[in-house]
Amino acid sequence: MVEHVSPGASALPAVFRRVLRRRCPQCERGPLFRSYARLHPSCSECGLVYRREQGAQTGSMYLTAAVNQVFAALVIGCIWIFFDWSVVRSLVVGVPLVALFSVLFLPLSMALWVGVEYATDVGNREDWTQLR
Ligand SMILES: [Zn+2]
Repeated sequence: MVEHVSPGASALPAVFRRVLRRRCPQCERGPLFRSYARLHPSCSECGLVYRREQGAQTGSMYLTAAVNQVFAALVIGCIWIFFDWSVVRSLVVGVPLVALFSVLFLPLSMALWVGVEYATDVGNREDWTQLR
């Protein structure tokens, strides 16, 4: 079911709910991804361009890096606090955990960044945004 929302700050929850469901932030009907972590160039339903310029997903890379560093710090902290493991054993367990988290978080980060860009454009009242 497509929910209609008005532009402005009240649109933010709807935009982020849509991208977290991996749907177009503008119309909610089109899928964001064509495969696991590959964005469609644009929405198949409303035509919203997801990657409007070269480097449009740079923000998602920074978001992924920052969240992964926090997760890695939590893993290191948990291993150090709760387990009396050697450095080698800690690395053998911790590195794959962080790598797996990184792979799993990437599409979420990309979707969130599409939402951030779209919400910014809605907030700036760009005339091409038509939140439906
Ligand atoms: Zn759309």
